[in-house]
Amino acid sequence: MTIEQAAELLRQGSVVAFPTETVYGLGADAWNPTAVKKIFALKGRPDDNPLIVHLSDISQVADFASEIPPAAEKLMKKCWPGPLTLVFNKKPEVLDAITSGLNTVALRIPDHPVALELIRLTGPLAAPSANRSGRPSPTNPMHVQRDFGPDFPVLEGGKSAVGLESTVLDLTRQPFAVLRPGKYTREQLERITGTRIGVDQAASDKPGSPGVKYTHYKPEADVLWFDPAKNYDREKVLLITHTDRPAGFPRHVHFRGDFEHMARELYDLFRTADFDGLSRILIEPLPDTESYSMVAALKNRIEKASGN
Ligand code: AMP
Ligand code: MG
Repeated sequence: MTIEQAAELLRQGSVVAFPTETVYGLGADAWNPTAVKKIFALKGRPDDNPLIVHLSDISQVADFASEIPPAAEKLMKKCWPGPLTLVFNKKPEVLDAITSGLNTVALRIPDHPVALELIRLTGPLAAPSANRSGRPSPTNPMHVQRDFGPDFPVLEGGKSAVGLESTVLDLTRQPFAVLRPGKYTREQLERITGTRIGVDQAASDKPGSPGVKYTHYKPEADVLWFDPAKNYDREKVLLITHTDRPAGFPRHVHFRGDFEHMARELYDLFRTADFDGLSRILIEPLPDTESYSMVAALKNRIEKASGN
């Protein structure tokens, strides 16, 4: 499908999957309530889980946000287009279907030429990840079609370059808070804004912490942190490591300290493990630092996938 064909479907109120640098999105016209509701029905997404509005230009922020704090100007100039979602207080006319009835709205400009061209043609698109609710996010067009069928409209744009969802930064509280870790680290955002930035407790999902209600990003296979002291049944298991290379696992993917590469491949590995009927995915624990790009994001997604 061409960008023009995708734009035409979206103008008619249809839902279309499109590429971004983080993951593929399931887009609908952000000003069409019927179209936006289709996203929730298609995904089987609970309606208390709000959507991100994708823009093509900073000037569109004023159509959705009721106020733009000075720090937001810095972040938008420095990080957009890019994998940073900013949460603002919303204007009254923003659709409740997008915000799940919250007083806030999440906005970002994706860093992908196809997405930008599409949004220039259609105007702002509300879009979550283009997977069925609870499944790993799609990082290529085949993932989308595996979830929604071969005839589902997907605008193709190659493999997602980042591979994990955007950092979500809430600008409506003091201090600002990271609600979901992504490629932009808390330290980077602190440097850009010159302010301290917190982490929302509910979003931090420490390993083993009780009270995490949903599993997300979850393959059929069990996801577990690898413990070299344990004896594992190595059949039907995928091992993912980033430092040493334990021998004897028939299926083993090794990222040699390249966490950006690991982030790019993680969801594809989850989906491939399921396709191959594996029962377990073992992942070597990640370094205890937030400063490496993608480490906090990887930990967060792996912990969610493991259902801790
Ligand atoms: P997805 O793109 O599927 O990861 O879903 C979008 C995510 O954006 C949601 O799960 C929320 O974490 C976040 N989000 C969207 N709107 C808001 C908002 N108004 N406040 C806080 N988080 C939001
Ligand atoms: Mg999602």
